[in-house]
Amino acid sequence: MPVTNPEYRAIARAHIMEKKVCRKCYATNPVSAKKCRKCRSKELRMKRSNKK
Ligand SMILES: [Zn+2]
Repeated sequence: MPVTNPEYRAIARAHIMEKKVCRKCYATNPVSAKKCRKCRSKELRMKRSNKK
């Protein structure tokens, strides 16, 4: 279901950005995570696809 309200859309987008992705297994983790919850790797990167 697509979000039509622009305000909600902005919030949703910001929320998606607040994730870390494991470099090894590509699992998403909370920003506060120090290591991957799935494989326990410390190699996490911020999920940021389009940086303007
Ligand atoms: Zn992992």
